[in-house]
Order: sequence, then structure tokens, then C-alpha cells
Amino acid sequence: MKSKPKFETRAIKSIQSDLTNVKPVSTPIYLSSTFERNPDGSYEDNFQYSRGDNPNRRILENSIAQLENGEVCFAFSSGMAAISAILQSLKTGDHVILPDDAYYNIYALTTDVFDRWGLDVTIVDMSDLKQVKGAIKDNTVMIWAETPSNPQLKITDIQELTTITKTHNIILVVDNTWPSPVLQNPLTLGANIVMHSTTKYFGGHSDVLGGCVVLRENNEHANRIHSIQKNMGAVPSPFDCWLIARGIQTLHLRVTAQTKSAHELALYLEAHPKIDQVLYPGLKSHPQHHIAVKQMKNGYGAMLSVIVKGDQQNATDVSNKLEHFTAATSLGAVESLVEHRLSVEGPDSKTPDNLLRISVGLENIDDLINDWQQALK
Ligand SMILES: *Cc1c(COP(=O)(O)O)cnc(C)c1O
Repeated sequence: MKSKPKFETRAIKSIQSDLTNVKPVSTPIYLSSTFERNPDGSYEDNFQYSRGDNPNRRILENSIAQLENGEVCFAFSSGMAAISAILQSLKTGDHVILPDDAYYNIYALTTDVFDRWGLDVTIVDMSDLKQVKGAIKDNTVMIWAETPSNPQLKITDIQELTTITKTHNIILVVDNTWPSPVLQNPLTLGANIVMHSTTKYFGGHSDVLGGCVVLRENNEHANRIHSIQKNMGAVPSPFDCWLIARGIQTLHLRVTAQTKSAHELALYLEAHPKIDQVLYPGLKSHPQHHIAVKQMKNGYGAMLSVIVKGDQQNATDVSNKLEHFTAATSLGAVESLVEHRLSVEGPDSKTPDNLLRISVGLENIDDLINDWQQALK
């Protein structure tokens, strides 16, 4: 005869859910690291172990794949993990062309890690396609673009770049973190892979780290990225996925509103006598404005950089006087941030010492402009 289970056993069993017909409007957070196997050995919806796949991650990946017009998306625990996965999908001796004004950690990653693994890297000005063509070698397999670039907001013509990559059978990757899919869809323009730091506009609230890789085709390269995701294990937690998915619901509203304010602020600052230069692709004065008009939609983004007249001290003085712009790194969230970029990037950086990078948030634009007015007095 079966004896009645003891307290500890009942306690564990007692909270195991057998609710099946619940229809929550908000997606639940599936914290479970493992999933029960059916008697025939199969798993419901193929969920077996959370590193391999998890409901919150699958929801997030399907959403981003759709929004970027890709066939498949893989989510990672940070933007850098996503970048690493893309580089890990290559092999020793492969050659990659990087832009000279990219997210600065990619340089540390290629020199500190992938150099030891025999990855061959050339850095060029990606807004000059002659330089790109000149850097192509027999072993070139990948070109990396980031447009608008960080922190100088240079624009690379994605379509023009694909004419080069297609002829040479090279994979074109675009870091689309800054514009987000609301403003730019590189896969539609012909790129093969898009990556995001979902820490930024997707999350949108400075409370989660994440990254993703979206491929135009669910091909053999996608299988390789999938294997890296699963086997190297830099996966986001269900809660992280849930936070980023929640951010996606307001992504369009946030990005278009922040973009509109950034454009207004750029116009204000461009006319200000204490500002030497405003780097913003929406300005007619921007050297690649015509390309931005062609390849971006709904505006030119919520990021801009300003070159303050004078030296580093003048720039940091202004930053310290701002009240509605928090001096902090990162970008893309509801609160406005300002950053003296050179001090973060270090001595090897090409960033001018009087450059301030601005991430425009969702505060009222009049308050933001007034804040710069008082700070520049
Ligand atoms: C922040 C950022 C990254 C790195 O992402 P993390 O989530 O910080 O790892 C990569 N590219 C761009 C353009 C970024 O802004």
C-alpha cells in the first residue's frame, strides 16, 4: 500500500502547477530551468532545458526576427555576447573588416581574445567605400558596419556596401543598436546579419542587459550561431527576456518621440555660439545626410554628439552643469544621458577630447533645450 508522502515531499509537490487553461494577457515569466518529459520521451513545444530554449526567450527571438524582417533571431545575455557569437562563428585565419568608429569594446574583443585565436582584422573608415574595397583580401569573409556610428555618427551606405559584399561573397553584419528597427532595417537593404545590444532601445529603461543576432536566412550560418548560443551558453535569463519583450511593446512610440526631440535639440545646439559642431545625421550639414535620408525612416535617431568650443575641461564643465542629462554611459532609455566619451574609451580612442555624446530621452523637449541653454551660459 502507498503510504501518504511526508511533509517535505508534499510541500514540494503541492506548488507544482497543473493549471492548463489559464489565459494571461501579460506573458508569464517562465523561470523554470528544466521542463517535464512526456512518457514517450518527447517535450511539449520542444522545451527541454532552459539554456537550450525557454518560452520567454523564444517569444523575444520571434518578435525581434519579425521586426527586423529576418528569418531567425538568437538572443544573448549582452550585446557583447552577441558580437562574440558572430565572431566565434568564423574560423582561424578568416579576415574581418571593422569600421574605425564602432562600439569601442569590439576593438578590445578582437585584440584581447580573437587575435589569439588567429582572426585577421583590418580597421577602415567604413563611410569611405574605396577604403573598404581596398581592404578586401582573399580570406575576407565578413564586413562589419555600424551606422550611425558611435560616437561620431558617421553614416555608411548599406546598399552600396552590399554591392561589394555580394560580388566577393562576404557576409555583411550591421550593428543596428542605435537606429533600432524603427528607423532602419539593414536586412531589407541587403545585409546578411543584424546585431543589437537590446540593453539599449529594446529594453529602453536602463534595467536589463541583452543582445541578439538576427539572420536574413535561416541557413547553415544560422545553425552555427545557434550552436554557439546553446553550447557556449551566454544566454539571457527568462526575466531579462521578459523585460526586453515588454520594452518592445513601446519601442516605436519611444524611439519616434526620442528621435523628434533629438532632432530639435540638434538644431538648437547647431545654432549655439558655444558649440563648434553637432554630429547628427538629420542635419543638412552632416556630410552623409543624403545617405541617411535614403536608408533611414521615421527620423535619424535619438543619439547625437556635440563638439564643445574649447578643450576637455570646457566640455566636462558643460556636462556637469546639465540637470536633466545624467552623466552616465549607455543610451537608449527613457532618461536623457550625457557622456564625455574619450574618458570612457581610453587613450587609444580617436574621439575628440571636447566631444560629448548625448542620448535623448522622453523628458519634455522644452526642459531639455532650456537645460542646455543654462549649461552653456
Ligand atoms: C552598448 C552597445 C554594444 C554592446 O552591448 P552590451 O549590451 O553593452 O554588451 C554594442 N554595440 C553598440 C552600438 C552599443 O551601443
